[in-house]
This record gives sequence, structure tokens and C-alpha cells, in this order.
Amino acid sequence: MVEVYDRLAALVAARCPDTPVLLLRPGLLERTAAAVRAAFPGEVWYAVKCNPLPQVLEALRRGGVDCFDVASIGEVRSLRALLGREVRLAFMHPVKPEEAIIEAYRDWGVRRFALDSAEEFEKIRRVTAGARDVELVVRLKVDDRKARLPFSGKFGADPSEAAALLRRVRREYGFCGLTFHVGSQCLDPGAFVRALRCARWVVEAAGGVDLLDVGGGFPVSYVGSEPPFAAFVEAICETLAGWPDRPALACEPGRLLVAEALSLLVRVELRRGSKLYLNDGVFGHLSELRSLGPGFPMRVVLPRRRAPLEGFTLYGPTCDGEDVMPGPHLLPGDVRTGDWIEIGMMGAYSVSLRTGFNGMPEGELWVLEEDVGIGGRTGSRLVRAA
Ligand SMILES: *Cc1c(COP(=O)(O)O)cnc(C)c1O
Repeated sequence: MVEVYDRLAALVAARCPDTPVLLLRPGLLERTAAAVRAAFPGEVWYAVKCNPLPQVLEALRRGGVDCFDVASIGEVRSLRALLGREVRLAFMHPVKPEEAIIEAYRDWGVRRFALDSAEEFEKIRRVTAGARDVELVVRLKVDDRKARLPFSGKFGADPSEAAALLRRVRREYGFCGLTFHVGSQCLDPGAFVRALRCARWVVEAAGGVDLLDVGGGFPVSYVGSEPPFAAFVEAICETLAGWPDRPALACEPGRLLVAEALSLLVRVELRRGSKLYLNDGVFGHLSELRSLGPGFPMRVVLPRRRAPLEGFTLYGPTCDGEDVMPGPHLLPGDVRTGDWIEIGMMGAYSVSLRTGFNGMPEGELWVLEEDVGIGGRTGSRLVRAA
């Protein structure tokens, strides 16, 4: 039987869910995908690790995204199983097991691979037996201090090393690409301008590239002051306008495409002063409430609460001392034990980072279908995912 509710509060009232509920808006995913593709003058590769739910991937596909950035052979297999041979896959982890490269190339038609070392170059060349249709993309280390979640400590070749690698790639393959990642939830378009300046030096030292992949990191709006995607596209295009030979462009957004399209319904299991103990936390879907900090939009959906907002610290349901999300998370001051809270903007790095630690339950997935007739009017309804 299909369970259908026309409003979130109706779902809560009827089912009193005691496990976290994921509320997915596929229509919004489709529109975001189409808007990002229209706004960006190049290939748009979705970074699958950000949210690999089949319903998310299918909605992005319907929105016109047909390129997927994967980082493991597991992602390669599941993408092919779900979306078939029509979509393009790029294996953008700079350090890959040999078996994964072989299987991706031979069995799944993956042609684009990232690398940031001479050893990885040799590895790819050896295990693909020097196949000429491989597209290699060199990952450059850039300054990511303007991102809320940096990661260039882990990946990327220094500029001179990157230039040397590109020269080798070009010599042996004809095609070569350069990529970088400014870090996730990057709040400064200038970070891309600086990364591109560094990239330009590398490109000139290498004698040109065919592809420039500016990575992901584009922010979404949690608190409202984050610059829009258009500001990043403009900064990138203005910077590239000064380049003598503009290579083809690509980007790899994760968060930007999926954050807004999923919210999470959680229950308050206990209120103690300004501490709220929830049925979800850092080891469930909420690790970003700890890593990014407060600012995620949240509201009490049932019952209705009207008191002025106050700041709360949130605690997850496991016994681990790290399972805390320091505030101030803003909620009505009269929120109580037993209330249900909807946390918005939860599509990125939530489902994908969930663990089963301490018996954490998997969230129930509900899908908001839009433009369906309800009692004679057009609107939306919530349907439990199969
Ligand atoms: C994680 C990742 C992305 C996506 O990053 P967002 O900050 O979610 O946009 C893109 N490219 C690579 C190589 C990644 O590892």
C-alpha cells in the first residue's frame, strides 16, 4: 500500500515516526540540475559521494546531468547498474587501486582518471596497457583556506610537479587535463580566481591543456549571506577571459546540486535546559551540523510552537562524547521533549556519511511529489519511497 500525505505535519501526526525521516524533493533536484547546467559554460560532473541515493541520481539525470564524478569501483558499479551506459563516469580519486582502474576501464567504459603523482601515472599506463583513449587529469594543490571544509592537505601536486606531469601526459596521450578543488562550501569566489592564477602558471609551464576542471566547492545558502553560484561562474569566466588559449571547462559540484533538495525530520527525545537530545546525530545524518557548525535552517513541525527563537546545543542518540552539535541552533524557546523538528538543507554529506554505530537506524525515505491532484487541486504530496 502506498502511504500518501499531503503535508508534512499530517505525516508526523499520522505516523509519529520514531526514526529519522528523510524528505526528498526530486522536482527541486531536477530544477537545480537544469539551472546549474544552464549557468555553467562547460561540462557539469556530479560528485556522487555527496549523496548517492538512487532517487537523487535519477532526478539529477532527468534534470540533464549526464556526467558523474566517482571515487571508487563501488560507485562505478552502482552508477552503471542504475543509469546504464549512456552516462559518462570520471574516476577522480587521485589514488586508486590497480584492480579498480582495470575494472573501470575494461568493464565499465570509464575513460577519465585523475592523478597527482608520477607513480599513479605509471600505474594507470601499465594497467590500461597504454590504451590511447584514456583521458588523464592532473590534480593541482591549491589554497583552500577560504573553504569551510578544506582538503588539499590530502591531494594535489605542487605547481612545478603538476606541470611536469602534464607534459608527460600530453607526450604520451595527446589529451591532458588539469583540475583542482578549492575545498567544500567555499565562501569566496576569489578562491577560484587565485586557484586559476596558479593553474595558469602550470598550464603555461606545461605548454597548454585541453581541459580545465575547476572542481566543486560551490557553496549553498544555509544562513543566506553565502554568495550565489552566479558569482563564482562570473569570477571564473572573467579570469579565463584573460587566458590566451582557453581550454574546455568542467566543474564537479556536489553540495550545490543536492543540499537543498533534502530535509530531515527528527524527534526531540529529551530537553534539558538549552540541551536537546535528538534521535539523530553526528554518526547518523547530522555530521555536518558539527563540521560546518550551526546555521542550518530548522523549525518545529509538530506541535506548532510560537515562542521567540533561542539557541540550543544538539546531542545525538549514541553514547559517544563526540556526538554533539554545538550551537547556537535556533528553535522556538518552548520546544519540548516529543516535538518533531525539520532540519533543512540536509541533502549533502548526510545519507552518505551515516554510520550504523551504536545501532543508529537508517532513515525512512519519503518523497515529495509535486504537481499532483489532491482533492481537486494541484499541489504536492509525500509518498514513502519503495
Ligand atoms: C567531494 C568532491 C567534489 C564535490 O565537492 P563539493 O564541495 O560537494 O562541491 C568534487 N570533486 C572532487 C574530486 C571531490 O572529491
